[in-house]
Amino acid sequence: MGDFTPALTGHGIDRDDHTRADPARLARMKGRDDAQLMRLDGLMPLIETGALTYAPFAETPQDCETVYLGLKDGAPTFVPVPGVGDARQALEQRANRAVIMQLGPRDLAIYAGARSIVDWHARHRFCANCGAPTTIAKGGWQRDCSKDAGGCGVMHFPRTDPVAIMLVEHNGDLLLGRGHGWLERNYSALAGFLEPGESLEEGVSREVFEEAGVTVSNVSYVASQPWPFPSQLMIGCHGFASGRELVIDTTEMEDVRWFTREEVAEAMANAPDGKAFRAPPKEAIAHTLLAWWLAQGGQD
Ligand SMILES: [Zn+2]
Repeated sequence: MGDFTPALTGHGIDRDDHTRADPARLARMKGRDDAQLMRLDGLMPLIETGALTYAPFAETPQDCETVYLGLKDGAPTFVPVPGVGDARQALEQRANRAVIMQLGPRDLAIYAGARSIVDWHARHRFCANCGAPTTIAKGGWQRDCSKDAGGCGVMHFPRTDPVAIMLVEHNGDLLLGRGHGWLERNYSALAGFLEPGESLEEGVSREVFEEAGVTVSNVSYVASQPWPFPSQLMIGCHGFASGRELVIDTTEMEDVRWFTREEVAEAMANAPDGKAFRAPPKEAIAHTLLAWWLAQGGQD
């Protein structure tokens, strides 16, 4: 078995939760000589020689909200909240691709988490319950509706939106699809947001039936990945289809097809320029899932 740990995980920061909730302790962290602030331009990191860069925390402007990420190699590490967020998906943001290509695995994981939380702050400056302004709280892991400003005082927490992403197989073949507007010959695992009132297994079954008309059973969990464009948790699953006849929902999918194990192996070996199709990039959990599936060597 190889290493099937998805990209964007493993940042290795001690989240130091006890400090978040303790204002005096948080102030002491900010006052330490080694306290540092990630250098961002809006939501984009300032990168030097392939690495994230940090300024001394003491140089933080007075009116800048900051999120306490925790202790990075022992140093209290903060991220500035930008003036505006960006709720678009990664595909619509070309600059993100350049960042992903430049950063090493650990810095990419650190940046991804930092980006997701500060983006949430930038887009939640007002209470969803009453419309009053919100203020940053708990070291940046909460926002409170401001009672001082006449608000209702409700607490708001950072969002993580669960998405099921699944490999569905039948007699050793794998079901993959492509959405509208994707780059030519790109195919990936089917995926969809989980909805209130359904389990992970139910979400997998519903999405596959909606998008491809295939009934799935024996759903199992494989691996997960936080995805910061803007705040998904990708939950990788595997399941078996009861048949191979497809009814494709063309409003959601441009194409859904069965691929043989040989086609998947060839596409992954030659990523991104496989003959059968273009496999997802290694930063995507779909890539991890395909590598995992190939390593299983056929299960039925
Ligand atoms: Zn409120």
